[in-house]
Amino acid sequence: MFALTFDDGPGPVTSDLLDVLQKAGVRATFFLLGRNVEEAPWCGDPAKARSLALRAAREGHVLGNHTYSHFRPDRWHELASDLRKGEAVVRALRGEAGLPDGPVPFRLPYGVRLIEQTLPSPSGNINAVSLDPRLPVLASIGRAHLHWTSDFDDWTLRPGDGDALAKKMIAHIEQCIALGMDAVLDLHDSGTGSPSGYDRRATVEGVRQLLDEAKRRKWKSYTIPT
Ligand SMILES: [Zn+2]
Repeated sequence: MFALTFDDGPGPVTSDLLDVLQKAGVRATFFLLGRNVEEAPWCGDPAKARSLALRAAREGHVLGNHTYSHFRPDRWHELASDLRKGEAVVRALRGEAGLPDGPVPFRLPYGVRLIEQTLPSPSGNINAVSLDPRLPVLASIGRAHLHWTSDFDDWTLRPGDGDALAKKMIAHIEQCIALGMDAVLDLHDSGTGSPSGYDRRATVEGVRQLLDEAKRRKWKSYTIPT
């Protein structure tokens, strides 16, 4: 089985992506970026952003939280408040979509990272690697990060790269099957305001091709966390 997850949305391709998923009868998990709903810098129209997120909820997709601002790990001291701010956006959307209240799945921006530090010592500086400082913050507020079995750098792809992306995703699912695992695919339907922009057309085409292939091979999809 494989689960599709989309981070950073909503964005310019979310509507097309929902069409592709609806046509294939597949449900996914959308880890929304609060800012891309409430401020919608990717389109300048928060009402449009909100209606896309509501459409996803009403079509049976799982709405998760990816924080409000997508801060980097070095801003770990702001994580708890930014997580709550993002969670409030998701809870409001769920309520508006008429869905029952319940735990909101969470995914850390950038996933779990190792942090490299230079530490002074009597014999000179040493380089040290430490665990992501955001994990203790998550522990303190009783939240867990939902990771993936692979991402595909889809934020770096050009519009015509959908074929190549589909091949990579299919190869990953085959690898998971060989290992007796299910696959959790990390993809993106928008951006964070970085130079990679917001347009993820290759992702939509890659998912369309993957779902065609999955149907041929009788691979089943599921949603995380359930
Ligand atoms: Zn992200």
